[in-house]
Amino acid sequence: MLSTKIICTIGPASNTSKMLSELALMGMNVVRLNFSHGDHSTHYKIIEKIRKINEKRSFPIAILLDTKGPEIRTGKQEIKINKGKIIFVVSPPNKEKNGSLYVNYRYLQEDLEVGDTISIDGGLFCLEVKDKNKNGLRCKVIHGGIIKARRHVNLPGKNIKLPGITDVDKKDILFGLKNNVNIIALSFVRNAETIRQVRAILGNSGDHIKLIAKIENQEGVNHLEEIVKESDGIMVARGDLGIEVEMEELPQIQRRIAYLCAKYGKRLIVATQMLESMIEHPVPTRAEVTDVANAVFEQSDAIMLSGETSIGKYPLSCVETISKIVRRTEESPGVNFSDKIVKVKNGEYLAESAIQIATNLKIKSIVVITRNGRGARYLSNLRPFKIGIYSFTNSTNVLTSMALYRGVFPFLMKFHVNPEETIQDALKILSAKEGFDAKEKVVVLANILTGEGYSTSLQIRTIPSS
Ligand code: PEP
Repeated sequence: MLSTKIICTIGPASNTSKMLSELALMGMNVVRLNFSHGDHSTHYKIIEKIRKINEKRSFPIAILLDTKGPEIRTGKQEIKINKGKIIFVVSPPNKEKNGSLYVNYRYLQEDLEVGDTISIDGGLFCLEVKDKNKNGLRCKVIHGGIIKARRHVNLPGKNIKLPGITDVDKKDILFGLKNNVNIIALSFVRNAETIRQVRAILGNSGDHIKLIAKIENQEGVNHLEEIVKESDGIMVARGDLGIEVEMEELPQIQRRIAYLCAKYGKRLIVATQMLESMIEHPVPTRAEVTDVANAVFEQSDAIMLSGETSIGKYPLSCVETISKIVRRTEESPGVNFSDKIVKVKNGEYLAESAIQIATNLKIKSIVVITRNGRGARYLSNLRPFKIGIYSFTNSTNVLTSMALYRGVFPFLMKFHVNPEETIQDALKILSAKEGFDAKEKVVVLANILTGEGYSTSLQIRTIPSS
């Protein structure tokens, strides 16, 4: 199994049981349900199929719900705009009317100044504001064409006045809670308050759900550190981000997010256009191969496929291709920011010691016994090079959330009252299921119940003869 996890967005190209099973066999670790499309019943059907597949797997596929987020769209009418010409743009309270472009954002006129741009449909169309009056904006068409109905609108560099969590998002989050999704990715997060609001919506019954903040605009970038600290991880959502900020800023921002995630021990997901050309073609471009490899070098926990697996012609080949690139790239240590990590917990120092021991003694595997996943996370945060983290837990929720941790291979097992028996069972599983050789040494980090409550033991053990 690979250390870097693979997330596949599911859509018409991949939503059958057969295709989902094949993607899982090919290396998919997490399915992404994009709530910008589809309704609850469509998503529910996929969740059911994944649960069925998981019944037969030892490493479960995790389910990631990606919210729609606060978004701005064009009107119901398709409209043709010609390059170089002037078009009138109207927004509420004005109504949509023939010959004008409608944008459903109430503060459009207030927020935009002469010289600002309006970007439509992922940057395919672009307008520059030339003038404004009480009825709307006069804009010059920079990139024209036929704008279809209800296309996504970006206002680059603007702090939009929309709530962090919309009513639709709230309903979707509660749907996720009810159906026990493992991860929620929040679109267009602009500050840490949004994460706190979602935690409040989820309450205690949802505290196992990992919250990933999608950084998609300048405001999110401006508040990056507070967002990283408050969330469980960050998605570098390069699709919108590449429109909202100057494109040449993207690599710097991606690197800064990688650094901050390492510093605060948070998950890092690199997303969008990883293998974009494979939506149509059976092979990727050379630039895409290098982009995937760079995300692995940057120590991402996971890399994400979007249109490639949801609507593309070659979903399986995409996962096969990305796996090949990841496997080869993981042979190199890459960029390791883990020396910058801020360690505050005893468990983090013990994890560091476990890695030091394994490295010094050339031991290839660390076994971690964890009830809440923390031990596995601390080890993963330190990004040990060529050392596998075999994580045993007795909780299904913890097991599934580990599908997102770089370098962690999760197992479910029953824990005994006597911790020694639990450790022995874990070692036996590695021998029976993972082909570990008898007498092979492993480092064991076990969170066990002692007379003083839970404490962590660190041992060097050998795999028993079967
Ligand atoms: C992105 O913009 O890169 C992204 C992942 O978000 P979405 O696909 O929801 O637009």
